[in-house]
Amino acid sequence: MDVSALAQGVLNGERRALARAITLAESGRTDHRAEATALLEELAQSGRQAIRIGLSGTPGVGKSTFIESFGLMLIEKGLRVAVLAVDPSSKRTGGSILGDKTRMDHLSRAPQAFIRPSPSQSHLGGVARRTRDAVALCEAAGFDVVLVETVGVGQSETVVADLSDVFLLLLAPAGGDELQGVKRGIMEAADMIVVNKADGDLKATANRTCADYAGALRLLRKRPEDPEGFPKALTVSALENNGLPGVWDEIIALVNWRRAHGHWDRRRAEQARHWFTEEVRQALLARLQHPAAQARLAELAKAVERGDTTAPTAAQAMVSALGQSDEIT
Ligand code: GDP
Repeated sequence: MDVSALAQGVLNGERRALARAITLAESGRTDHRAEATALLEELAQSGRQAIRIGLSGTPGVGKSTFIESFGLMLIEKGLRVAVLAVDPSSKRTGGSILGDKTRMDHLSRAPQAFIRPSPSQSHLGGVARRTRDAVALCEAAGFDVVLVETVGVGQSETVVADLSDVFLLLLAPAGGDELQGVKRGIMEAADMIVVNKADGDLKATANRTCADYAGALRLLRKRPEDPEGFPKALTVSALENNGLPGVWDEIIALVNWRRAHGHWDRRRAEQARHWFTEEVRQALLARLQHPAAQARLAELAKAVERGDTTAPTAAQAMVSALGQSDEIT
């Protein structure tokens, strides 16, 4: 593998090179991991940044429809758009997220767009790492906007909120008790709540739902990185293409404000630090899976069972064994 040639292809914005680079980053093989790490290191020099938009919502709220309409609108503005997915449950659902490309028919055929379905992995930590890598690769490839989609189940929203600059929660119009259904953590992470399907018979309900959420958002503690009026709730119709320019305008207003006040860089720095600690954790977990480590673990567990040593002492021995690369590599 010629990592430098691949890096050049990515920097030139070649889609095939980008796809290959993401495949490399998704690979579980140790040699691929080393190459992906070298590739990311080389590409980091480019210093290119996209606006990373996280989009979460339960199945059926209209994420694909929104991405199709929103993505096409951005392309019309002359921007290049990459779409990625985080779906730790894709094994269970057969990879439905972004798998059904017909829902993004026009966008997937646009040369200014790049759409990448979720890797079929059930392990959230692995998916998170691969998505972070993929986001970094899309940025290096010169995309202006990277949209990261996730289904609103499990911990995947937290992963997406952690790697995005702006986090959108997409909701469908619903009765009053629906408000209870959204986890507080997600409400707190959202920069914007977008109530979709504000069209036809659903329009009045959508407006009510939006007002309910606007009220709930006002009750949350104001975050220092937010300008006045954020987080905010909006209505759109992804199907009828209504309200999408308003969402983009609000994103830009938020981004500009955060850039001007130093919050953008600070958030990116915090995210990079979080990424680093996660990498360390993942690397240690991987070491623990090594056969030699498993054997040592079993041995120490037996010793603890027999009462030959205490649990804390054995744990300490295990951790130091993991730290010594000549013992367990
Ligand atoms: P996802 O599962 O969140 O990706 O949702 P989809 O984009 O697949 O949409 C689910 C269903 O909602 C489809 O039947 C869409 O046609 C419909 N839908 C999506 N957006 C809108 C909208 O703005 N208005 C209406 N009325 N229906 C919509």
